[in-house]
Amino acid sequence: MRGLVFLGDKKAEVRDFPKPEPGPGEVVVEMKAAGLCGSDLNYYRQTSAERAGVVIIAGHEPSGVVDSVGHGVNTVHVGDRVSVYHYRGCGHCKHCLAGNIMWCPEARGYGGPIHGSAADFILTDARNCLPLPDELTFAHGALIACAAGTAFSALRKLQVSGNDTVVIFGQGPVGMNCLIMARGMGGRVIAVEPIAQRRALARKLGADEIIDPNSSDVRSAVRSLTKGEGADVALDCSGSDAARDGAITCLRLGGKAAFVGLGSRPAGEPSPINALHLIGSQITVMGSFVMPISNYWDLADFIVQRRLPMLEMITHRFSIEEAPEAVALFDGGRTGKVIIEWP
Ligand SMILES: [Zn+2]
Ligand SMILES: [Zn+2]
Repeated sequence: MRGLVFLGDKKAEVRDFPKPEPGPGEVVVEMKAAGLCGSDLNYYRQTSAERAGVVIIAGHEPSGVVDSVGHGVNTVHVGDRVSVYHYRGCGHCKHCLAGNIMWCPEARGYGGPIHGSAADFILTDARNCLPLPDELTFAHGALIACAAGTAFSALRKLQVSGNDTVVIFGQGPVGMNCLIMARGMGGRVIAVEPIAQRRALARKLGADEIIDPNSSDVRSAVRSLTKGEGADVALDCSGSDAARDGAITCLRLGGKAAFVGLGSRPAGEPSPINALHLIGSQITVMGSFVMPISNYWDLADFIVQRRLPMLEMITHRFSIEEAPEAVALFDGGRTGKVIIEWP
């Protein structure tokens, strides 16, 4: 089978790999759609020295059809249409049982230590296979596997409702998911994005207001859109220090912010925070990382029942053979969601 690998220094190629075989409890899924995510780019941008000897298939947004199942699998069947949750865990520790597979001591994320979704087939566990309702396409399944789930989980923690003005910093794939879903929850959305193409996309996706942080001061722009008070809720989906600061300082007294974007700051290096504003305005800031797998059912229902225009964020679709081209384009930061699709 074919699989996309990152060689370092933004070199990528499609190589041949043996098709995986399902062991006990495992499932092989034939890919139909696989999304590209900002965190894939962190691997793509590593140096060739950092990638030396790493031959791992990229991608962690898998969706497709069950091809074969291993011994003891009776909850998933050949032919099932599924979205595949993007971390594999032990299945039995307290974190796995709570649905927080990403915290399992044995957690393995696709495209990191194990072969990912930019391939003809993927090996997973039966418990990672999330059945797609008839109303949802494989492209929806790819979105749900990571970006849409990440957005949904953060918005739920923030308890966004129709009472809220929600500022979303960064209109990459996670930011666009936040925009669509915050509106689906009734929120009024102000999108903040420095890149013109992404501002245009945010407008198409229904942003109520759009701010270019390079041409206006976000803090005062948000205040002028909120009768001088500031926003109720803010999310940073960019990972930049300026946006994290903006997510705190654009808030009203007692507002809530979530940091979602990982950014590219080296792990462990602290990001500066406007502590005085945080204290004086009694701001609540939280971090939010991916989604507990158990949220899947509510997320799928939410997308179907609110008829959310999820697919409109997809601006480019490529075949697996064209995957290196897809990653190079996505790396330019001017696209909406980019996905790899199979016929
Ligand atoms: Zn992701
Ligand atoms: Zn576990």
